[in-house]
Amino acid sequence: MELVNLKDSSDTASFCQAVAKGLGKNQGLYFPESVAPLHNIDELLSMPLAERSIHILKHLIGDELPTSTISEFVNNAFTFEAPLAHVSENIHSLELFHGPTLAFKDFGGRFMAQCLKHISKGKPVTILTATSGDTGAAVAHAFHGIDNIKVVILFPKGKISPLQEKLFTTLGDNIHTVAIDADFDACQQLVKTAFDDEDVREGLHLNSANSINISRLLAQVCYYFEAVSQVPKEQQDKVVFSVPSGNFGNLTAGIIAKLLGLPIKRFIAATNSNDTVPRFLQTGKWEPNETVATISNAMDVSQPNNWPRIQAMVDKGLFDADLLVGEAVDEEYTQGAMRKLASLGYVSEPHAAIAYRCLSKQLEEDEVGIFLGTAHPAKFRETVENVLGQPIRLPQALVDVSSKEGLESELENSYEALKAHMFSILK
Ligand SMILES: *Cc1c(COP(=O)(O)O)cnc(C)c1O
Repeated sequence: MELVNLKDSSDTASFCQAVAKGLGKNQGLYFPESVAPLHNIDELLSMPLAERSIHILKHLIGDELPTSTISEFVNNAFTFEAPLAHVSENIHSLELFHGPTLAFKDFGGRFMAQCLKHISKGKPVTILTATSGDTGAAVAHAFHGIDNIKVVILFPKGKISPLQEKLFTTLGDNIHTVAIDADFDACQQLVKTAFDDEDVREGLHLNSANSINISRLLAQVCYYFEAVSQVPKEQQDKVVFSVPSGNFGNLTAGIIAKLLGLPIKRFIAATNSNDTVPRFLQTGKWEPNETVATISNAMDVSQPNNWPRIQAMVDKGLFDADLLVGEAVDEEYTQGAMRKLASLGYVSEPHAAIAYRCLSKQLEEDEVGIFLGTAHPAKFRETVENVLGQPIRLPQALVDVSSKEGLESELENSYEALKAHMFSILK
């Protein structure tokens, strides 16, 4: 697989190089030079998730890794299912939250951990990442106990649901967590600054593990196929995906699935009030506002870092921008959508509810709508219970962490403070 830095086309990388580096020169994102379509879509859609995913990933990655290695990654990473739940007449939820940390980020996080473990061949690596919620947990779990890989996770203090936070701050061992007194965009900026700092990048063998890592995106492509495979054959070319979006990795993966030949009709980019992309799609102007805090906090991102990849697919003529509409949903309508879903017998959380709201508004009669269920409702227990006025049952994974002590450190929003902290805990 040939990847090109979107900021500097002379900076190219193989799949393994791009996974190992995360970001390219000038903080540029790597993106495949080309995406060749698959010619056996029907056959693939009849296979089970793991077997199909091995084919898709082998096709994308190419000869760089043998099929046996890719199949080992997939079998270690994709150990849970992604069922399509029927919600109303022509609307379904793709439930991506049946992994160990109850969020879709387990797919990408676990696949990436397998790739990095393979590539690092036992040499020391530090994963530095910022999380607005679920990435942290997924990355922490995926790497926990891999000896040569240390993980540092930054998160905005007090802006993540308490149970969600416990899922990654309680692990310890090679997993170091830091609460930063700032919002997610500031955490993301600290990570970028660290990658620009040669002392830190070289000295600590830095690697990023947020949604910019190409391995995560490739893994996420696989569940779009899984969704379509569960739709009756005669409806498979009518599917509209509504994607609850923050950093836009999920949507990027969906568009790659379409480039591979999956017959997706169109996409809806659903956001909360952090609506940079829906406004951009309407006006053509990229004008990020201050990030605002919402109950769908994993999407509280006003400068989505995967957007340049989507823009590149549009600019290269690979993806028709008319097949993407954006819509932002405010807090009141988010809550309304959660209540509506509950009245249909489907208890959901704010992120998926936003995607549902956009889908139910925009879906046309002969279309089949799928919104991505990105997290288990129990991860947002307080919000869900408040909005629905009824208690929800916690899955065992959350019961287990809820009584444990968080092991995070706390830092002000200062790069120097972070740097000193990292050297003190990692050297
Ligand atoms: C991360 C996250 C999102 C946003 O996904 P992106 O790929 O960043 O757009 C949506 N919902 C939940 C629950 C998440 O954790």
